[in-house]
Amino acid sequence: MMEKKIALIPGDGIGPEIVREARKILDKVCEKFGHSFTYTELLMGGCSIDAYGVPLTDETLEAAKASDSVLLGAVGGNVGNSRWYDVAPNLRPEAGLLAIRKGLGLFANIRPAYLYKELKAACPLREDIIGEGFDMVIMRELTGGLYFGERHTEEVDGVRKATDTLTYDENEIRRIAIKAFEIARKRKGNVISVDKANVLDSSRLWRQVAEEVAKDYPDVTLTHMLVDNCAMQLVMNPGQFDVILTENMFGDILSDEASMITGSIGMLSSASLSETKLGLYEPSHGSAPDIAGKDLANPIATILSAAMMLRYSFDMDKEADAVEAAVSKVLEDGYRTGDIMSEGCTQVGTIQMGDLIAERIESN
Ligand code: NAD
Repeated sequence: MMEKKIALIPGDGIGPEIVREARKILDKVCEKFGHSFTYTELLMGGCSIDAYGVPLTDETLEAAKASDSVLLGAVGGNVGNSRWYDVAPNLRPEAGLLAIRKGLGLFANIRPAYLYKELKAACPLREDIIGEGFDMVIMRELTGGLYFGERHTEEVDGVRKATDTLTYDENEIRRIAIKAFEIARKRKGNVISVDKANVLDSSRLWRQVAEEVAKDYPDVTLTHMLVDNCAMQLVMNPGQFDVILTENMFGDILSDEASMITGSIGMLSSASLSETKLGLYEPSHGSAPDIAGKDLANPIATILSAAMMLRYSFDMDKEADAVEAAVSKVLEDGYRTGDIMSEGCTQVGTIQMGDLIAERIESN
């Protein structure tokens, strides 16, 4: 029996609908496995702007920090047509996301790319390439590298010149490498570290530190791959990957490539981790204002994000397995929301999809 305090941040658009279904699943896990979760609902994004004038208040951030973990829906409105966007960028809904990531010290982002056999038709790859399918996670460094380095634009002798810098110190590399090895232990035990060590100094240090960390994990294998090769391998032989460990910009690009080959945005979960067990879990998609309030949203990405919370923040591996198995079972049984609908299946709404998954959660 474990007790956990979970901060729920439903956000805007479809956020409240999908977070409500994820909570239904977490409650079912408590019932089946004898745990107790308590929830604090917090405002962030457009709804916080409406209530407090800013996308994230200090009080909300403190409440998130005081919880054991955070589950987020999505924030933001219709960008071309919303009062939330007639303001400075730091007051827009999405600024809340950046602020909470910084405030919680989230430096590692994990995005899984898993192909359900029932959704193979949505995968843009050829059948012979898909083979037995794929099941990988991309672990991307989130707070260093090129996106956070010094930059400037100048004019030298009438020629415009722009400079960005890519810097990592060994501590930044070590802490994310440790996360990758820990996660590989919960999976198939293979880390592929992706870099550009044939050109970049930062990549050579990345490789060295990854090797040093690997010594503490004799049960996990470490191999290295150059980023250009990795981009090709993802579409040539995706089945070879388990955990991909990489820096910020490479991870940004590769994680989008990996999510594309699953083909279904409503299914993609994500997690961002800190030095402690506190993490932020959210679907990879946005707030989908076009379908908000219509019981059309696919709640599975959020439900799978909640499963990641169970696994990575609470070390409840069996419980996470049970949620993932229930999602697989619902797909096997032919239920689909509109976004993943195909011929011969039964189309259901957001609420019914949550109910069907909850019904299939078993503790053995
Ligand atoms: P989006 O992901 O919200 O929607 C893209 C398309 O996918 C839409 O047609 C939408 O209906 C569909 N879709 C997305 N999630 C779905 C789901 N669960 N089920 C069924 N269909 C789904 O991206 P967008 O339209 O570019 O952005 C909309 C808003 O979301 C903007 O305000 C944007 O800034 C914000 N956004 C927020 C986050 C976040 O909170 N992390 C991420 C991306 C975008």
